[in-house]
Amino acid sequence: MLLKAALQESSAQIDALMTDLGKTESKILSTHQELLEDPDLLKLAADGIEQRKSAGFAWRAAFLQYATQLESLQGNHNAMLRERGTDIRDVGHRVLGQLVEGIQSSFELPDGAILIAPELSPSDTASFDRSKLLGFCTTTGGPTSHVAILAKSFGIPALCNVDESALNLADGTLVVLDGTNGILNSQPTSADIERAQADISEINTRDQQYRLNAKTLAVTQDGRRIEVVANVRNAQEATEGIANGAEGVGLLRSEFLFDNRDSTPSEDEQADAYAAVAKALGPERPLVIRTLDVGGDKPLSYLPIPKEENPFLGLRGVRVSLDQPAIFRTQLRAILCCAGLAKLHIMFPMIATLEELREAKLILAEERSKTNAPNVQVGLMIEVPSAAVLSEQFAKEADFFSIGTNDLTQYTLAMDRGHPKLAQKADGLHPAVLKMIAMTCEGALKHGKWVGVCGGLASDLLVIPVLIGLGVVELSVSVPAIPAVKALVRRLSLPECKVLAQEVIQMGTAAEVRAKLTAFANTKEEKNHAHP
Ligand code: PEP
Ligand code: MG
Repeated sequence: MLLKAALQESSAQIDALMTDLGKTESKILSTHQELLEDPDLLKLAADGIEQRKSAGFAWRAAFLQYATQLESLQGNHNAMLRERGTDIRDVGHRVLGQLVEGIQSSFELPDGAILIAPELSPSDTASFDRSKLLGFCTTTGGPTSHVAILAKSFGIPALCNVDESALNLADGTLVVLDGTNGILNSQPTSADIERAQADISEINTRDQQYRLNAKTLAVTQDGRRIEVVANVRNAQEATEGIANGAEGVGLLRSEFLFDNRDSTPSEDEQADAYAAVAKALGPERPLVIRTLDVGGDKPLSYLPIPKEENPFLGLRGVRVSLDQPAIFRTQLRAILCCAGLAKLHIMFPMIATLEELREAKLILAEERSKTNAPNVQVGLMIEVPSAAVLSEQFAKEADFFSIGTNDLTQYTLAMDRGHPKLAQKADGLHPAVLKMIAMTCEGALKHGKWVGVCGGLASDLLVIPVLIGLGVVELSVSVPAIPAVKALVRRLSLPECKVLAQEVIQMGTAAEVRAKLTAFANTKEEKNHAHP
């Protein structure tokens, strides 16, 4: 129904536009009208909806697939087909715009809503009214999927991979969502509700206390300073981060500037956006800008990445930048414009080989030589096992590392982070992942380079003592998590973290690690209650 309404509304919009335009433009738009009725395209979308995808998700997947299919057809009419592909994307985005509006208005979330859906795209997630949304659940995905990451950045609980029966709950059903223990209780007793309300007020009181101290540094009891910085997408989040006690930005996910549009942002537009984040921080605070990290689970409609059998193992992260040097060079020039406004660091995502790092650095050096930008720190994300294993060699050629534990987990365990069945098992607490982190720190330390973590593990209170024990000195976390992370660091001591870390990396399963870390956390909690 939603899709039908969006198609009708788009058609009416195009009609209105056509009356104002000349002959040539009207011709293009009449092609768009035809596309709105194209049976192949509509069937693709209907198939997606039948598979219980949301209308927006199904439509987006359908028009992108259809456009790519046409563009990849060989033959004499290639130029024509490419144009057709562009038309499909164009009209596809028009309908998508209607859908997003339709979805938002059709939901009219009541206060205190818990949203349950088969899956949500990051843009669906970002568009809901946060003041009304208490939490959400999806029946697919896992804790490191991008939807879960967005939920963390909003500070609301989200459960992935809940039982499909949850989709049958009638609107307005009272449920209890326990994000800490991963439980959706759809038939709560009055005692369950009372307990949940008591838990919520205890959490709120504790968070308020943490916030009181959020602006002071995070130093362990024996004096190890841990820099707690924020993962952000834009200047507004950077400002919120600082207000919440962030000491800077450890990961600016620059791809959010490139998403949800039909062409790459211009150099000026990018420079303005990066400068806005840098200004929000000021010259004394670090800003780590990650260059474009798309491909795999983060497609861009206007980037011609051919369909791949294994997108997570294909053109993704820095590989896209090296494949599209013009886009890369533009981005680097735009980033360099904000050197001086904050302590600028540039970071390349998904580096797997030294050659990739060298090529990326060379391009950066060439672009820098054309400007009068000062030298900036250059680092890489450690999210591919080859980079963790060769960390010592990488450390000779980089200023810092930031470990992307979301991808490092999926690549170490060979489990797709968004896979409906596997994502739940892609557990960053697996000792194999922790050993990768240990290797990364050892290699970096040999060359005096610092290591941060910007993946989801950095916000996980259970595992932070291990990260510190392995030598991590910077934690880049979702904005709402900052006060609690700082409070935890203050309750720890480096020697106890080291002992704990060495113990868990010898273990065989994630379950054993989790049990050990839970027991450790409980001792810290008691201390915490004694000395708030
Ligand atoms: C990661 O992989 O841990 C990471 C921080 O990058 P992203 O989640 O954006 O892929
Ligand atoms: Mg990553």
